Amino acid sequence: MKDLLKDPTLLRTQAYINGEWVDSDSGETFPVLNPATHEVLAEVASVGGAETRRAIEAAEVAQKPWAARSAMERSAILMKWNNLILENVEDLAIIMTQEQGKVLAESRGEIVYAASFIEWFAEEGKRVYGDVFPLPQGTSRGIAIKQPVGVVAAVTPWNFPSAMLTRKCGPALAVGCAMVAKPAHETPLSMLALAELADRAGLPAGLLSIVPGGHARPIGDEMCSNPIVRKFTFTGSTRIGKMLAAQCTETMKRTSMELGGNAPVIVFDDADLDKAAVGAAASKYRNSGQTCICANRILVQEGVYDEFVEKLKGVVGTFKIGDGMDESSTHGPVITRKALEDIKSMVDDAVEHGAEIAAGGQFGEGDEQFIQPTILCNVTEDMRVFKEEIFGPVAPIFKFRTEEEAIAMANDTEFGLAAYLFTKDQGRTWRVSEGIEYGMVGVNEVLISSTFIPFGGVKESGQGREGSSYGVDDYLEIKYICIGDLGA
Ligand code: NAP
Repeated sequence: MKDLLKDPTLLRTQAYINGEWVDSDSGETFPVLNPATHEVLAEVASVGGAETRRAIEAAEVAQKPWAARSAMERSAILMKWNNLILENVEDLAIIMTQEQGKVLAESRGEIVYAASFIEWFAEEGKRVYGDVFPLPQGTSRGIAIKQPVGVVAAVTPWNFPSAMLTRKCGPALAVGCAMVAKPAHETPLSMLALAELADRAGLPAGLLSIVPGGHARPIGDEMCSNPIVRKFTFTGSTRIGKMLAAQCTETMKRTSMELGGNAPVIVFDDADLDKAAVGAAASKYRNSGQTCICANRILVQEGVYDEFVEKLKGVVGTFKIGDGMDESSTHGPVITRKALEDIKSMVDDAVEHGAEIAAGGQFGEGDEQFIQPTILCNVTEDMRVFKEEIFGPVAPIFKFRTEEEAIAMANDTEFGLAAYLFTKDQGRTWRVSEGIEYGMVGVNEVLISSTFIPFGGVKESGQGREGSSYGVDDYLEIKYICIGDLGA
């Protein structure tokens, strides 16, 4: 891949611990594959518990002087990092497309999105305010100050390999924390390239260490059990998130959990169906259906069901599936062959139970990882596609009769991350938005994600919010100070 990059030194394959690029203690490495071509892109250092512990100890040493610096000084370094990321968008996008598979346009978008969290929190870190409040005894005053939680450990997934790091380390570093982060084993190169740029920006050693690994468990065990780590922040599946959150209780760490979703898109019969079809397709097929806020269940009111399906077929018919490096591709492969098999098994289950394939339905043969964008009709609530996160380019379209039924169907899941509705009725907009149990709701809009918004879920989609002015809260402790003997 090096020959594709303007700056080949961005391609880092060692771990980044305490400001140094290092091999694993064992010398072990793991391969990173291109999901479109199966080419081995790199062999990356596979660290374990001991290296993770050293990164955590270095973070503890680095954190206190970092917290003691002014927010302005921290901000200046973060802004340098932001600028370096933006100067290297093209190379970073190529690295991402090569290891993750998303098309170049989406990779470029993610890099800009990732940088925006650094910029936003570089500013927000200057606005960490406290409170002064009266006390029952008039001669005293209460003060609440906010302080960094300290050392933070982070684990991120492969679907947004850059933005899921910066959404966490942006606020953490801005308010004076230090972070040790583990990328997903499929996509470590994007995070390592960002660390290289953080180093060039002058981020002091130890404040951001990256611990890639071919075996997640020893790294996770160290992060979740080490008492130096005061906060653990995770983005990934609900199954792994629950397990790691449970591990964190032993040392009573604070946790933020950004977990799985099962997003409904509810299309009412008063909606603009053209916009609904374009929106549903954008939400469903972005990143080949591999985002946590992707439409998972499309619920359409019975009177407009057939018309909506035809319009969605029209949108999907314009897609071109292929290698993300080809600028004419609109959608790339899925991340692994196993992911393809899992998605296929959900489609097979639906078809066995009576669903019809209205578009697509072709899955790559052999070791190929391409799936033609698929639409399923005649789907029912007893099928796996209603209950499980599909995480692939498959759109099941369910039918409902009334608003109450749509709300009940939307809520009939343990997940509660994002939901969308299409309607022109203002009363319905409010009733449904308030009636559904989700952390985020898009009304006539599916592009809901940005740095400006509090991103996060309810129920088993997790806890905590990332982005916006709320995004710093998860990295701050409130300390109460009572000042007495102030006189009458
Ligand atoms: P995953 O299997 O849960 O993996 C996520 C991360 O957890 C990876 O880095 C993985 O490492 C790591 N991991 C697994 N077992 C671990 C352990 N014992 N200790 C420490 N780390 C461990 O999820 P995924 O398939 O990569 O990502 C897709 C999921 O993420 C979907 O459910 C999606 O909805 C969710 N997601 C949520 C959000 C959100 O903001 N709510 C955003 C994006 C994605 P390895 O790769 O090394 O196994």
